[in-house]
Amino acid sequence: MEKSVDDSDLVPYLCWKGKADCCRGGKVFMTTEEVINIAQSLPLEQRKEFIRRLDQHVDFSIYEQGEACQFLDAENFCTLHDKKLKPVECGWWPLHAYVEGDKVVIRISTCECGKHISEESVTLVKKGIQKVGEDRIRRFRKIYAGEDPTRPL
Ligand code: SF4
Ligand code: SF4
Repeated sequence: MEKSVDDSDLVPYLCWKGKADCCRGGKVFMTTEEVINIAQSLPLEQRKEFIRRLDQHVDFSIYEQGEACQFLDAENFCTLHDKKLKPVECGWWPLHAYVEGDKVVIRISTCECGKHISEESVTLVKKGIQKVGEDRIRRFRKIYAGEDPTRPL
């Protein structure tokens, strides 16, 4: 079956070309709803691996990508994407919700995909932040401030 390129438009395609570095070596924010939906979709061994990588909090988790996210396939596609289970934060890349002072702000990764930001992507992230809730993002960022080099929007 041909793989789709892609509802978050250009960014995942460029990610794929760029060997999906953003799916390796970092941490991913997931709401508890996302964690439940992903866990329920997985066979037992994969589910155990998924849970092993989670740092769980009251209403979100932080997923450890390790050497590579377990959902990245051999062609650098996200296997959660076509299942419509990709975590919201992954759909934001290379935009990020950071916290400055008490304010939730959007920043852009300085990687290649960061050069291809559309107004639509920014709107998508703004809506996503509202849906997830700024309070939840503040609590997440207290635990994981983020490591990627970024610039302001
Ligand atoms: S250029 Fe950025 S968004 Fe694209 S694969 Fe690399 S890290 Fe990911
Ligand atoms: S869930 Fe998908 S997009 Fe997110 S880090 Fe894993 S492979 Fe990458």
